[in-house]
Amino acid sequence: MIIVMHPSATQDNVEHVCKLVRDMGLKDHPIQGTNLTVVAVIGDDRKKDGDKFEQAPGVDRVMKVLQPYTLAAKADPKQRSEVTIGGPATNSQAVTFGGDAIPVIAGPCSVEGEDAIIEAGQAAKAAGAHALRGGAFKPRTNPYSFQGHGEDGLKMLAAAREATGLPIVTEVLTTTDVELVSEYADMLQIGTRNSQNFKLLEACGDSPKPVLMKRGMSMTLDELLQACEYILSGGNTQVVLCERGIRTFEDHTRNTLSLSVVPELHHRTHLPVVIDPSHGTGKAHLVPAMAKAAVAAGCDGLAIEMHVNPEKAWTDGAQSITPATLAELMPQLQRIAEAVDRTCAEASAVS
Ligand code: PEP
Ligand code: MN
Repeated sequence: MIIVMHPSATQDNVEHVCKLVRDMGLKDHPIQGTNLTVVAVIGDDRKKDGDKFEQAPGVDRVMKVLQPYTLAAKADPKQRSEVTIGGPATNSQAVTFGGDAIPVIAGPCSVEGEDAIIEAGQAAKAAGAHALRGGAFKPRTNPYSFQGHGEDGLKMLAAAREATGLPIVTEVLTTTDVELVSEYADMLQIGTRNSQNFKLLEACGDSPKPVLMKRGMSMTLDELLQACEYILSGGNTQVVLCERGIRTFEDHTRNTLSLSVVPELHHRTHLPVVIDPSHGTGKAHLVPAMAKAAVAAGCDGLAIEMHVNPEKAWTDGAQSITPATLAELMPQLQRIAEAVDRTCAEASAVS
């Protein structure tokens, strides 16, 4: 941390700041320039509380040098993590995020019934998707809306996995459900509305299952990576980030899907980055273009809502593409992936 003193700061002001640093059990290192003085603060990062200096006389600004997310941050610029879901333990194909392959997770917003999720799974697989999604526990804005089938929905997802061999990705809403959802799911999804539910994140840190961590709809990347730190520091190192769009003044889409987060997150963290163009746009006709753009931007996976009959979808029908659209999209994604030295055709790595 570096404390930049104002050009008008007095020697007393500098000495006061140096004393505050020492009182925190840290070492002060004042550097006098031609116009101003800066005080470098050296020592254990956890003891550094920048706020303590903001109001000290003569202080202009406080700059943090190290990121506040040590486990999510890259140890070296080339570091990249791979996260594998599925495999023999759940009798499904192993799918890896963060390698050369770009897996596609597809499926309906909600698990509507056993036959419906099996049909969706088979359609997703036939179209070339690598994993199946579907919400059993649904976070709904309105308490009277369909809340999901709960544990029955998890059983339906397991049946769809059995029928297709696709690993399953599903949301966990509460700390008390983490164990239950972990029993069935191959990957736990943390939804945008729960992205700063720190107790839930801690509980996922104890889970043996990989986590798909969605960005909060008004979350900065700094906050997203600090939220991941809750999971990583709990001992669960299998975290995949997911951009699903943020709230802005823009109203031609449900959310604003910022694709520059892909290279920016790759710059800051070793964790794989997945793009959800469905929640990111809210409109099915925009999904293929944004999925292709995401692959071009270097994403490590896609999460796409697909429904056998979007008109009849219980939730998020407007943003759900059909299996036919997904089947048309997959070879296009493959061509774009090849152009950026990746592949969308094969996402499985037998472990
Ligand atoms: C979902 O994946 O269906 C969902 C609710 O996503 P989000 O948390 O991004 O809104
Ligand atoms: Mn949805």
